[in-house]
Amino acid sequence: MSSIQRARSFWGWGFADRFPDDDARRAIGAHVGALLGCTPELRAPPSLDAVKMGPPRAAVPADIAAFATQGREERARHAYGRSYRDVARGFAGDFATAPDVVAIPRDEAELARVLAACEKEALAAVPYGGGTSVVGGVEAEISGALRGVVSIDMRAMGKVLEVDAVSRAARIQAGALGPSLEKELAAHAMTLRHYPQSFEFSTLGGWIATRAGGHFATLYTHIDDLVESVRMVTPRGLFATRRLPASGAGPSPERLVLGSEGILGVVTEAWVRVRPRPKWRSSASVTFDDFFAGARAARAVAQSGLHPSNCRLLDGLEATLNGVPLDAPPEADGVRSGVLLLGFESADHPVREPLGRALALALAEGGRCPKGPRHKEEEARGGDDTSEAWRQAFLEAPYLQSTLVSLGVIADTFETACTWDGFEALHAAVAAAVKGAMPGGRGVLTCRFSHVYPDGPAPYFTFVVPGKAGEEIERWWAIKRAASDALSAGGATITHHHAVGRTHRPWYDRERPDLFAEALRAAKRAMDPQGILNPGVLLDPDATGCS
Ligand SMILES: Cc1cc2nc3c(=O)[nH]c(=O)nc-3n(C[C@H](O)[C@H](O)[C@H](O)COP(=O)(O)OP(=O)(O)OC[C@H]3O[C@@H](n4cnc5c(N)ncnc54)[C@H](O)[C@@H]3O)c2cc1C
Repeated sequence: MSSIQRARSFWGWGFADRFPDDDARRAIGAHVGALLGCTPELRAPPSLDAVKMGPPRAAVPADIAAFATQGREERARHAYGRSYRDVARGFAGDFATAPDVVAIPRDEAELARVLAACEKEALAAVPYGGGTSVVGGVEAEISGALRGVVSIDMRAMGKVLEVDAVSRAARIQAGALGPSLEKELAAHAMTLRHYPQSFEFSTLGGWIATRAGGHFATLYTHIDDLVESVRMVTPRGLFATRRLPASGAGPSPERLVLGSEGILGVVTEAWVRVRPRPKWRSSASVTFDDFFAGARAARAVAQSGLHPSNCRLLDGLEATLNGVPLDAPPEADGVRSGVLLLGFESADHPVREPLGRALALALAEGGRCPKGPRHKEEEARGGDDTSEAWRQAFLEAPYLQSTLVSLGVIADTFETACTWDGFEALHAAVAAAVKGAMPGGRGVLTCRFSHVYPDGPAPYFTFVVPGKAGEEIERWWAIKRAASDALSAGGATITHHHAVGRTHRPWYDRERPDLFAEALRAAKRAMDPQGILNPGVLLDPDATGCS
């Protein structure tokens, strides 16, 4: 069955048929209960017919009626992203913030009509890619003169339009989901190789709008590094940039679009840099008794001039929870030990040598590599058993989070980036803040590096705590606030790749220079003078002074 035919869950992650049956949920509940010292209860999943949703506040504008709907199911499916808070509200059947209209434009002309209709009828316009935002990016908030919300679903603009094999670039429409764009590129023996964890259900336009982080741990970490040029339809016309490999001509126009999170316009397509699939892959996993020795090893590799595609460090508990073997058991809180997963790949040459050098750097920090390096050629997957165990658990994790919501357990992740000199202090501050906010101190916190740079890592933290019926979202907010305050106070960023949306606004506002906020407001006034586009994201809802 193709992923187009297979039904998606309207409240949780991914395909509906992946939600486990009661026996499987009981088994997961027992496992998590033992970890947290609680007894998770099985709650019944919601039915679409019974969810709470008000009638639309505005009618479908006549000019877009041919490709817009107010159907209950479409409205429910466009109400939320897929953060813990979204899934918890969806599971509780609360769809009170559903958009009033869902428009599905088929080309730029129809998209321009949607934006014009929104301006004319005073409706908020919220671009929607795959709806995997974890920061409230697709959940509209309206105030002032705005009367309702139109969700603009880009799914009808999802094709690879052109491949330039000479320059190794492809022109791809913004609504293309990860698997479909990779399938189309494969027909040209090319790949984008941008694999965020949400790859299966997120789109190129969403990646560009949020500056998504892919699987490359170094070098091509963000989609930014892969974008050659973009086209974006704004309420004031087309914003299209020139295809160039690089340019020093003033501030980069692409950079204004990258990370604009749907507040300036709707990205319709982009030329992105593609490459042949890798043929040579080498990998190794290195264990450490001390997580921070693992961090020093990751730093040594990041600063060596080598560019591993994988350089992920997991603390002992993160490794254990994800089925990644350690050659020694983690200490009591699991944090002190660690595993560093190293991988190199190339379509052009063997990568034994760089892997060998990276391994030597890791061993010099006290690491052990009992199984030695592993090398593969041609299309075979290159990970060793440890990397494969991690990869599988990584792909399953979002499904597990939805299952945990159905058991009343709170599980979420947050990520940041900091400089190497501040990492250990930041780790301690985040751990103290999160543990301090856990109800009764019960719960677990793990850490891993998702990406590493010569000047610092991108640490990624996961917490799992028991919920209390009716208070889960309050408990989640308490931890989220404590963690975000600790990141902000520690000089780290509120987000390395999950974006700002509405959830991260208070901390983003502290992080950016005031004059930058002023300049962003001016850019919004120029492109979206009536302030219809995604109000409340990145800027206050009335940022243009017009709504
Ligand atoms: C389980 C899970 C794992 C995740 N893993 C990662 C990860 O590894 N790396 C990562 O970076 N993120 C990750 N995310 C976050 C999310 O997947 C990314 O932010 C992704 O880029 C969103 O893409 P989307 O197509 O789903 O966009 P949406 O969620 O639909 O939208 C995200 C934001 O972009 C705007 N937008 C969407 N399309 C357009 C467009 N065409 N033009 C203008 N604005 C647009 C929306 O208005 C919204 O503000 C994860 C999320 C989940 C739930």
